[in-house]
Amino acid sequence: MKLWEDRIVRDGKVREGNVLKVDSFLNHQMDVKLFRQLAAEFKRLYSDKEINKILTIEASGIGIACATAEEFGCPVIFAKKTKTKNIAGDVYTCKVESFTHSTVYDVIVAKEFLGPEDKVLIIDDFLANGAALMGLIKIVNDAGATLVGAGIAIEKAFQPGGELIRSKGVRVESLARIKSMSENGGIEFC
Ligand code: 5GP
Repeated sequence: MKLWEDRIVRDGKVREGNVLKVDSFLNHQMDVKLFRQLAAEFKRLYSDKEINKILTIEASGIGIACATAEEFGCPVIFAKKTKTKNIAGDVYTCKVESFTHSTVYDVIVAKEFLGPEDKVLIIDDFLANGAALMGLIKIVNDAGATLVGAGIAIEKAFQPGGELIRSKGVRVESLARIKSMSENGGIEFC
């Protein structure tokens, strides 16, 4: 998606540790008009599929997931990160190692919101090592729901997550795939 790649190049900032800062349009200040354009592209890519739930993880996936849910005319569920040790039984849980904070979170989704009747599209802002996506896929599987696929705003294709998850037969559609990036060498797309 050319307009999306142009925006990433223009306003993204590459930081050490393979982190791309996108705070001015995605992760802190949010360009909602742009989110609608990304959402329309997810809708186009998955137009042949029946989808009745969007699933994301807090916090930075929520904005894009909401715009996407509007396109599909369905609700969005965001998996909550919690540090609570004793998690009540009425939730699906998984553990996710945070790429940006190097900590492990318990992630929960209430059972009342996800079940075998659901056809789920997972949306997230980034795909790096794949931990967040693997966690969400586990929750969809635990719920007995159908995983239709995943929609990712920015895939860092030089990290292993995309290959790992596609190798499991999961459809992953990324709107921008970064081949390489460096603090002074800029950003190159696949
Ligand atoms: P993964 O679990 O695939 O390693 O990382 C995905 C999650 O980590 C995303 O939900 C995102 O919040 C965060 N993340 C991974 N890489 C980056 C990055 O380069 N920049 C930002 N801002 N977040 C990232």
